[in-house]
Amino acid sequence: MEAHSLNLIPLCNGSPRKCETVCVFGTGDFGRSLGCKMLQCGYSVVFGSRTPKASGLLPKGAEVFNHREAAQRSSVVILAVHRDHYSFLQDLTEVLHGKILVDVSNNLKLNQHPESNAEYLAQVVPGAKVVKAFNTVSAWALQSGTLDASRQVFVCGDDSTSKEMVMGICRTLGLSPLDQGSLLAAKEVENFPLQLFPMWRLPMYIALSLTAFLFLYCLVTIVVFTNVKDGQDVSFRIAISIPNKVFPIVSLMLLALVYLPGIIAAILQLYRGTKYSRFPDWLDKWMLCRKQLGLVALAYAFLHVFYTLVIPIRYYVKWRSNNFIISQIKNNKTSSFETMSAWRGDSYIALGILGFFFYVLLGITSLPSVSNVVNWREFRFVQSKLGYLTLVLCTGHALIFGWNKFLYISQYKWYLPPPYMISLVIPCVVLAIKLILITPCVDQTITKIRQGWERNAKPQKMENYEVAKTTETNESKAMV
Ligand code: NAP
Repeated sequence: MEAHSLNLIPLCNGSPRKCETVCVFGTGDFGRSLGCKMLQCGYSVVFGSRTPKASGLLPKGAEVFNHREAAQRSSVVILAVHRDHYSFLQDLTEVLHGKILVDVSNNLKLNQHPESNAEYLAQVVPGAKVVKAFNTVSAWALQSGTLDASRQVFVCGDDSTSKEMVMGICRTLGLSPLDQGSLLAAKEVENFPLQLFPMWRLPMYIALSLTAFLFLYCLVTIVVFTNVKDGQDVSFRIAISIPNKVFPIVSLMLLALVYLPGIIAAILQLYRGTKYSRFPDWLDKWMLCRKQLGLVALAYAFLHVFYTLVIPIRYYVKWRSNNFIISQIKNNKTSSFETMSAWRGDSYIALGILGFFFYVLLGITSLPSVSNVVNWREFRFVQSKLGYLTLVLCTGHALIFGWNKFLYISQYKWYLPPPYMISLVIPCVVLAIKLILITPCVDQTITKIRQGWERNAKPQKMENYEVAKTTETNESKAMV
């Protein structure tokens, strides 16, 4: 029976209507959607239900039986039932013996149960060949045909033939199966659909915390200070002026934070004199979310650009420039052209434009469709070399903006430095250390370490393959 079914899989592509029967337990949302998709792709589908009655809800062409009868008609049983109800399968252990039992279930919380649903199913029906699959595909996507975002199906199971067969079904349905290994991987597979932007969490926390802190800082040093000192209400600055200070500062700090972990990694490797040693967990996590940090930084840079573009149409700006002209007319005075100011203004804008251009270039190359077509060296060149160039340009942009303001005591409101100075701390530290790291003597040592040289070399340092693997990952991570 089993061999017969296996032979039928290739036929499905050639003669769609005359191929294998697949049994689906459960006529709920997922069971119906999957059954419908299977019928469209040429499978014949039998449903196993507690109430085996023909219903208008069931896809046309499918048959419905009680669980036992339905299971007898197929070697593959897809279980579209929640884990809580698996106990009904205990009465069917005999009929399910030797059959492929596909667990599609998900949980409500991460690691909700001590064992995965698929492992639990294998305990409930010990004679069945349990395969975990389809849990990352939604009923809605199957129904609407919008599978683009969720085409990937993670498949795992202890029996490789059964796994292959389920993967064949996935391919016939136009899905992309990905072998995840044995049933031990089921817990991880079940956690996939429950994760909410895991790689974005840390960058978002950092960005939001910095935004909140800097917004309060600007509020105090600009609005509150002016109110207390001069009795003037400049609260209108909350709408555009303050955000347009906060966004570029956060953007520059985040961009520097993209390159800081690479520098810390290089210092650690120099200090330890070896690359065969794990980075601390926090550094590992930080390195893994650098792409997301960079993209959040780019979003902030975009906001800065948009907020800057509206400056000429602001009432306050027009009022100030008109007032300046009128006061010059009244006093019959013309301010002379200052070449230095012209240079300063133009360089400030030019660095900003160039910095933003490379920023966008970095963002574009981090898109999977672009990064997939460049090789590792090209990717490193863009993300590392052009990345540092972006950091230099944007830091220069902020430095010229500040110019010599740091010399004037009036700029320190309540002894607090002006906000732009805060934005320069991390980038300047990163660039200064990078400058030291690329000096020939230091760079040579780092390169040697990354090629496997060890200061206190002992023979057979690499104790096992695991260490070698960790090392390789650390090396490639640190190089960017
Ligand atoms: P559902 O709409 O509630 O359907 C579950 C079906 O299970 C019911 O229609 C019923 O079918 C059967 N059932 C209910 N109580 C039962 C019991 N005591 N004993 C035996 N069978 C019982 O749920 P669903 O959305 O289709 O989800 C089914 C499974 O697919 C779940 O494990 C879920 O995690 C998984 N899943 C769902 C989606 C999705 O988008 N919905 C996506 C991926 C995975 P009968 O009345 O015909 O017996």
